[in-house]
Amino acid sequence: MSTFKIKDVLTRVYNSKRPAVADLELLLSLATEPETRILYAYADRVRKKFAGNGILLRGIIEFDNNCRNNCLYCGLNRQNKHIKRYRLTQSQVLDSVARMAAQGIKTVVLQSGEASDLDAEWLAIVIREIKQRHHLAVTLSVGEQDLKTYRLWREAGADRYLLKIETTDREIYQAMHPEMDYDRRVTCLRNLKKLGYQVGSGIIIGLRGQTRSSIARDILFFQRHGFDMIGIGPFIPHYQTRLAKDKKGEALLTLNALALTRIVTRFSHLPATTALGSMEQDYRREGLQAGANVLMPNFTPQPYRRYYELYPGKRCVNEAVGACVPCLAGLVASIKRHLDFSYGHTLMR
Ligand code: SAM
Repeated sequence: MSTFKIKDVLTRVYNSKRPAVADLELLLSLATEPETRILYAYADRVRKKFAGNGILLRGIIEFDNNCRNNCLYCGLNRQNKHIKRYRLTQSQVLDSVARMAAQGIKTVVLQSGEASDLDAEWLAIVIREIKQRHHLAVTLSVGEQDLKTYRLWREAGADRYLLKIETTDREIYQAMHPEMDYDRRVTCLRNLKKLGYQVGSGIIIGLRGQTRSSIARDILFFQRHGFDMIGIGPFIPHYQTRLAKDKKGEALLTLNALALTRIVTRFSHLPATTALGSMEQDYRREGLQAGANVLMPNFTPQPYRRYYELYPGKRCVNEAVGACVPCLAGLVASIKRHLDFSYGHTLMR
């Protein structure tokens, strides 16, 4: 496609309150280096204008890998009998938080599978302790819960919540999550917003049956909901799931989707996801140059980190707690950006 045509479509998408699916599809299909260079440079300018040059850090602690769900793509799904299940104690979580705080990080992300016996009050105590001892921003990523539970955690001090919609294509959603319900997930996202959480969502690129048209609709969904954060990562097949033999998501399509999400949503915080860094090469640098402004160093203590195996080849599973930050400083310096140690609250309000 000619440079002129790409720029023309980009301008139309950027200036439109509701871009056309056909325009988004066209931009998602860009594949040659000269074409994608134009797309990523545009997204990079939009990122700089609305989210600045700093790269925010969110330290993640994967505190529990038990899960009642059966998501076809996920290595934690309850039918996988080959992984060792674990749950950190409150003091293990708080120790990792202390190390994170000592490195100057201001946001902790507490993530887990959806354990059927998760004690909501247990997590509320952890949240209160983190707030009292370290005054960090607390992001939760603990899946679908009822309103009462979301309220309890919000009142305990949680600031943000991540719940990826994974795909907005109902058919694919149902095929990937046979026992779950798309509308319930959207209701959870609405409930979180009503309770005053800064809300993050996101998608997986490369799920079976997914098309560029469905990804275009995902991006419009992000725009309609005005999410504060959006995570976009490639599908990586896990050898002990039913999708073991599926093709992995393409880095190129993931980067195109990320760039377009930046252009359409403008202010949302967008991580260069761990999955993007866990492919045949580390594509997080490319992600940061295509609209992303967040990195998520891992603070899950050893020896548990390798058991949080959503997909194989996950980055940094052998690293010690705290080793990721210096490594990320090198990564961002190589693209002449800098780490931002502020809270990095939402830019949407
Ligand atoms: N249970 C919580 C939830 O459902 O939101 C949070 C944890 S969940 C395991 C974290 C994310 O991992 C999911 O939202 C999904 O996008 C991602 N994930 C799981 N398996 C994956 C795979 N094989 N490839 C890429 N991403 C995957």
